[in-house]
Amino acid sequence: MTSVVGVIAAGGSGERLGADRPKAFVVCGGRPLLEWSVDVLSEVCDEVVVAVPAGHEEDIAAPDVRVVAGGASRSDSVRRALAAAPDAAVAVVHDAARPLVTRELVERCLAALGGDVDGVVAAAPVSDTIHAVDAELTVRASPPRSELWAAQTPQVFRADVLRRALDADAQTLAAATDDAALVVAAGGRVRIVCAPRENIKVTTRADLLVAESALC
Ligand code: C5P
Repeated sequence: MTSVVGVIAAGGSGERLGADRPKAFVVCGGRPLLEWSVDVLSEVCDEVVVAVPAGHEEDIAAPDVRVVAGGASRSDSVRRALAAAPDAAVAVVHDAARPLVTRELVERCLAALGGDVDGVVAAAPVSDTIHAVDAELTVRASPPRSELWAAQTPQVFRADVLRRALDADAQTLAAATDDAALVVAAGGRVRIVCAPRENIKVTTRADLLVAESALC
């Protein structure tokens, strides 16, 4: 039987939120932000591992999840959590910062994995034009908007492929902003599943208010 591990990256400090605690533990809709994602992944996955900032391992109130200390970067936190589930065949990676994730979205990502597809990333088409700039903020390229998708989580991978992609030096892990990019860089094939824009990442106070109003 295929074993599916849910990996929740919750190891960030949440500096941009300006809260008195790590972002995953900030209250949103009456409970810690992290718990919304734990609920959804627990419904779909055989086991759930959460990476929290070191020193906060005891702060989780969910008895059925395994907790590990996160790393210096998001990718390092994912790597550490995945290492706690060495037998898993499939990994569902999700950011605690996205509390509006739904079971339906996770299931659609899981269903899209298979054949020659090593990974599936939930993403939404961008509505803004995106410019790539240099250090002086001079525009160097403006890729066609129709080719650009904003990556979200969940992201679902063959666990062995993700393990290999994460087996990188600290600098590479620190530079990576999502797992799909690491898997592609390692030669993997990743597809997109169209996700709702509403599956926002809570970064600022304003995002927190938006999430809160959607959850309550
Ligand atoms: O910082 P950002 O919002 O991009 O982080 C995305 C997710 O990665 C958050 O859920 C955060 O808790 C997690 N993260 C982590 N370990 C780190 C940094 C961020 O698990 N060292």
